[in-house]
Amino acid sequence: MAQRAFDGITIALSKGRIFQDTRPLLAAAGIEPAADPESSRELIIATNRPDVRLVIVRASDVPTYVQYGGADLGVAGLDVLLEHGGDGIYQPLDLRIARCRMMVAVPKGFDYQAAIGRGARLRVATKYMRMAAEHFAAKGMHVDLIKLYGSMELAPLTGLGDAIVDLVSSGGTLRANNLEAVELIREISSRLIVNVAAWKLQRSRIAPLVEAFQQAVVPA
Ligand code: ATP
Ligand code: MG
Repeated sequence: MAQRAFDGITIALSKGRIFQDTRPLLAAAGIEPAADPESSRELIIATNRPDVRLVIVRASDVPTYVQYGGADLGVAGLDVLLEHGGDGIYQPLDLRIARCRMMVAVPKGFDYQAAIGRGARLRVATKYMRMAAEHFAAKGMHVDLIKLYGSMELAPLTGLGDAIVDLVSSGGTLRANNLEAVELIREISSRLIVNVAAWKLQRSRIAPLVEAFQQAVVPA
């Protein structure tokens, strides 16, 4: 086992929208971060509660920290969770923050339905290999998936792919790149995740936090 000197609750968050949208939920649980990760270089952020600290990690690393006990709790997008897989992770709560949609998008004027109809083998660029593979397999479509790590919108503009699978919120980025969304794969929001061992062994410390977050979730 790796050393772990801190014996309180560690919460893994990513910078940007997840941190910003989680702040009010933390406040509802009586937790105020001692620094702002957008301006601070600290990766471990203390809070007003000596028994609670935050660790700031890459969005796609949050499930890994929680799975292996580097953090007891975390906040991660459903996209990230589905790509990572759920081993060792309990998902008690949809926080309904960082909401967006996983969609298929194509260049404006490309007839996606007609391409499917004639059984064309599409090249699809995406960061979300697992969700994309499952989606097209469920539709009985044969596609060639091309893995990217960012800026999926660029792929069809450069001939790298016929289509992309990406997260869409306002659609502004798609429009700016002359693309349009043609198919919904999944509604996405961020989830509270808990290390399974911590949930069992530290239930009395973690359950009140989960309860406070739940009370603060903005209803549908
Ligand atoms: P990185 O920027 O480090 O590569 P990332 O793009 O996954 O990682 P963020 O941009 O902070 O990190 O996104 C975090 C989460 O917010 C995503 O996993 C997703 O669930 C959600 N998200 C992504 N894009 C949007 C969006 N346009 N609107 C709302 N929520 C989004
Ligand atoms: Mg991003």
